[in-house]
Amino acid sequence: PIQKLTHMSTQFQEGVTGFQRFMEIMNLNPAIKNRTKAINLSEVKGEIEFKRVSFRYEEHLQNIFVNLSLRVKPGEYIALVGPSGAGKTTLCSLIPRFYDVSAGEVLIDGINVRDIELQSLRKAIGIVQQDVYLFAGTVMDNIRYGDPTASEKEIIAAAKNANAHDFIMALPNGYQSEIGQRGVRLSGGQKQRLSIARVFLKNPSILILDEATSALDNESESIVKQSLEALAKGRTTIVIAHRLSTIQNAGRIIVLTEDGISEQGTHDTLLANDGPYANLYSKQFELQV
Ligand code: ADP
Ligand code: MG
Repeated sequence: PIQKLTHMSTQFQEGVTGFQRFMEIMNLNPAIKNRTKAINLSEVKGEIEFKRVSFRYEEHLQNIFVNLSLRVKPGEYIALVGPSGAGKTTLCSLIPRFYDVSAGEVLIDGINVRDIELQSLRKAIGIVQQDVYLFAGTVMDNIRYGDPTASEKEIIAAAKNANAHDFIMALPNGYQSEIGQRGVRLSGGQKQRLSIARVFLKNPSILILDEATSALDNESESIVKQSLEALAKGRTTIVIAHRLSTIQNAGRIIVLTEDGISEQGTHDTLLANDGPYANLYSKQFELQV
């Protein structure tokens, strides 16, 4: 892992938060450990439950959540919205156990994540976020990162599912093209499709899409959205979106504010409620006009 970290290219303009998340994914947070006789998660149905969860970051006094409860059914597609800083990313980071709760429980298929063997837990969860981690190496290597045991055939299939195959084939050396400072330059949408190909390859039961299209222009956004819709099929999906226009079709929209979950329902019921969601929605609408 250290070697991969040092090989990480600076070309990709990863922010500090991106770097932190990368460290967590590489499991360099010593506080999070397997307990003895941890349970190996296999055949994950993908139910997620937050049970009276409280959380605050270490060394911080303020709780991000107090007594938050939420259940997501296997295969459900929900959206998490709310103002910046409300804790959407933090809430999702409790599922793969990047942090441990301060009180309460996070359960997957009814099993407390603290009792699950970490590698099998994280294998069950795919994350696509705004920052994409690409390292110096070939396009093929970068996709293979989603499943180090995958064959070339499987990698190409994953790239096709992610709408990435065609642009990869148009690169000077196709899948063998080098990414990095001396390699090919990829657009934001292309990088995002490589990260989606990784998740197709990983094939997790649970998917977290954290502002995955926020940094893209309209044209890239539409092709990346198609790839994400295909990726979400058959998986429990939590989509965090700043632009409310991207989540109107979610089966359920959860509104997270400073006071926790303040509302939930479909787009239409929430608009009719005329509460925090309607408020957020009208603010964005004003901005667009
Ligand atoms: P959102 O995703 O809804 O914008 P975040 O989950 O990123 O919100 O952040 C919730 C709150 O937690 C914010 O006040 C943020 O500053 C704080 N926060 C986020 N990450 C960390 C961290 N690693 N350490 C300490 N505080 C953090
Ligand atoms: Mg966030």
